[in-house]
Amino acid sequence: MSLGYDSMRANLFESDAALDEMQQRLRESNALFRVVQGLAENLSLDQLLQLIVDEVTRAVPSADKAVVHLLQGESLEPRALSRRTGDRQPSAAMRTGFGIAGRALQLKQTQYVPDVRLDPDFVERGTGIKSLLVAPLMADAQIIGTLSVDSHKRRAFDESSCQLLALLASQAALAIEKARLFEETLAEKRRLEAILNTMLDGVLMLDRNQCIVSINPALARMAGQPATQIVGAHLTAAPYPLPLLAQVSLSEVEVSSAEIKTGAPLNKTLNVVASPLHDSRQGLGHVLVVHDVTRERELLQLKSDFVANVSHELRTPLFAIAGFVRLLLAEQVNDEATRREFLSIIGQQTEQLTNIVGDLLDVSRLEAGYQIELKLGSIDVPQAARDALARLETLARDKEITLTAQLPDSLPPVRADGRRLQQVLVNLLGNAIKYTPNGGQVLLSARQIHAAPLVEITVSDTGIGIPAEATPHLFERYYQVDRTATHKTNSTGLGLHISRRLVEALGGELRVESAPARGSHFSFTLPISTER
Ligand code: ADP
Repeated sequence: MSLGYDSMRANLFESDAALDEMQQRLRESNALFRVVQGLAENLSLDQLLQLIVDEVTRAVPSADKAVVHLLQGESLEPRALSRRTGDRQPSAAMRTGFGIAGRALQLKQTQYVPDVRLDPDFVERGTGIKSLLVAPLMADAQIIGTLSVDSHKRRAFDESSCQLLALLASQAALAIEKARLFEETLAEKRRLEAILNTMLDGVLMLDRNQCIVSINPALARMAGQPATQIVGAHLTAAPYPLPLLAQVSLSEVEVSSAEIKTGAPLNKTLNVVASPLHDSRQGLGHVLVVHDVTRERELLQLKSDFVANVSHELRTPLFAIAGFVRLLLAEQVNDEATRREFLSIIGQQTEQLTNIVGDLLDVSRLEAGYQIELKLGSIDVPQAARDALARLETLARDKEITLTAQLPDSLPPVRADGRRLQQVLVNLLGNAIKYTPNGGQVLLSARQIHAAPLVEITVSDTGIGIPAEATPHLFERYYQVDRTATHKTNSTGLGLHISRRLVEALGGELRVESAPARGSHFSFTLPISTER
């Protein structure tokens, strides 16, 4: 009987132990399963670390808490602490090469300390830990941190706890590396997206069949449709001007580029660079970068027109001067009146030459970043206006244009540079006469603006006017509305540019109001002089 009882007890104990064992295995595989599942769910690194420590505390019997430390430079930083822990004191950072963790990393093996009093490597921090287990976290033979469990009881763990922790640590390390990689990829993707979204250049990605895989906001804006509606379309069926980009050759091996003109309505010149995309085996498509070079090309065109124009403008007065001087030298002109007329023409042409050369010098100085030198003084506006009108009288008379002035006597003097003010007035009046057909009218007026200490001077004409689309460019250097007009002489496209810069340097503003065929008003302000 007693034998029977004993054997029954032994059996019972055995099946108890087997049950324990089974339950333990279940806990282990459960923990492993959940860590792997966490990885599949693409948890953030922090969420994953929390899951690992919670599962480890659940799976390792008699563990009070579990902690993950990750290697950061020379130190092991605590990154997650199991939630079940009574004391929520975060674990401290540890220097690598010290303590039990240091030993685990050095030996690349799980370290069991059944009684911390007996282990000289244990660093006492007053945490009440009596026994602990530390497993190194290794990914691709690289140490990335430690996973540890501890207990306030001595000899809390056994061989199977050691094996379990080692197993969990190897799975956790894998999961951590993957989560890190995922986070890095995500961050990289966001960085790339931010760059593409804020880029002024257009970027388009095509697959192997030339269907649009992605398009950045700058290019979608040019096409006038949201990116979502463009993606998926074949390049040739996408909204204007995208099909024109197909003009660039899409080579499988090399980068190619092309300059493409969009034509109306955009009227842009686009520089398109196409780079092939491929992995090690095959071509994946192309990336197209689209840079708007309209302004650069216009400026180049303006510059080359300008050079031709200036040569012409210099040659005309030079030929005239040379011709009249030759006549005078040949002494074929006998009467005094004709001699005087010839000399006066030579004088006018010389002044024209001087003006062009002066403008060229001004522009090159401004382009080089120099400030305009000013000799400021108190200037009487009616007097300056009369001087300018006198200089243009002949020109106006030749075209039968009526030149009038409306200058109140009460105008206060302005603070300006007399010579530069003449330059602005002569340019505006000269333009008004130049761009007004014979028989028209040009008016020079001035008034005091009472709201601000300013005088406003206006040159109005009844001329050809300026189209609205040209006004924003009028004050740009080299700009001319109708470059092909044959009737123009003395035109370089520099006058208004220099005039605006001069007025601004004098502390005023130069503006235009104009309508085609109705005439133009150019007005500028100058500060009233405070000198007595
Ligand atoms: P330009 O030497 O060609 O006259 P400006 O810089 O003085 O150069 O003027 C630039 C352009 O603005 C001119 O080419 C002309 O087309 C236009 N413009 C200037 N003034 C007038 C005006 N009063 N009426 C019509 N067009 C004008």
